[in-house]
Amino acid sequence: MKIDSNALRQDRPDLWDRFTRREEYEVSIRDMHGRFPYWASRDRDIFRPSVSGFLYEQGMVKPEYPDGCEFALCVTHDIDVVYSAPYMKILNGLRSARRGDIKGFARETCSVLDRKSPLYNFMDILSLEEKYGVKSTWFFQALEPGEPEFRYRLSDVEGVFGDILDAGCEIGLHGGFDAPFNLDRLLIEKSRLEKVLGEKAGGYRNHYLKLQVPLTWELLAQAGFIYDSTLGYNDCAGFRSGMCHPYRPVNLNAGKEIDIIELPLHVMDMTLFESYMRLDFNGAWKVVQGMIDLVRECRGVFVVNWHNTGYVDGRIELKMIEKVMEYCRANGACMNSMEQLIRQV
Ligand SMILES: [Zn+2]
Repeated sequence: MKIDSNALRQDRPDLWDRFTRREEYEVSIRDMHGRFPYWASRDRDIFRPSVSGFLYEQGMVKPEYPDGCEFALCVTHDIDVVYSAPYMKILNGLRSARRGDIKGFARETCSVLDRKSPLYNFMDILSLEEKYGVKSTWFFQALEPGEPEFRYRLSDVEGVFGDILDAGCEIGLHGGFDAPFNLDRLLIEKSRLEKVLGEKAGGYRNHYLKLQVPLTWELLAQAGFIYDSTLGYNDCAGFRSGMCHPYRPVNLNAGKEIDIIELPLHVMDMTLFESYMRLDFNGAWKVVQGMIDLVRECRGVFVVNWHNTGYVDGRIELKMIEKVMEYCRANGACMNSMEQLIRQV
């Protein structure tokens, strides 16, 4: 989707600064993983897609979705963990027992003996999505033993790649720890994934949502990716660049657009609950529903990242993603993979 960024710069310099993430060039605060956190941002208006809203009102974006849909939902999965550690299974079992779910307690504790259970749950996720008509996007790591954050080999998961692709879903790269700052690492991980996939990997999201503006976008473009979907905050849901339409980011140092599409991330499962925002189900739904309604008003794309670890019976994350899919379907959303969406809008 072509956006006339010159007009945005001239008419609304405040929105231009948000769109280009100017403050990330100016503020040097970063967290322990090198990320710019929401708490360091001057922009407190995080739950409104202010830039996309303006562009839409001015007729500067005119998205068209297939089948007369009014907006889009992209459900994505970062796959960090495939095998559950035994202590996590015991902890989940105790959680089930506390809820009075004796079957759940028995299932979780017995699964300590089963290396592949319960997080090797890709087929369950696919059939749940089929029920709602969702074609999701899956980001897999391509790491090897000894590399930071290594948790599984591609050979552990390649057996499910055919099922994911046959379901009309997409597979992209979940870049490792150093990849967002290092072209060689990006190229190594991309080629590992493509070797197993047997085709080009065009989509990207970095582990921990690590992204340095504008360096990571430039490196991704050089590595030959089509799009990135890392631009979101870990510590708060919201519209980091004010955008909910796909766009080409601008490098303010070079004064030009970068040859990559950004599909910004708006909500990650763990952001809403215990790790960051500490919301209960109703509080989280209020935030999420408000964001979906605003995305729909400007015919945008709502992007969520749900880890496979949340798709466990009884988990609040599972209840929430079902609510999101159900609400978006009822409100006329197109729910295709990112790759399909980019081709369609
Ligand atoms: Zn990750």
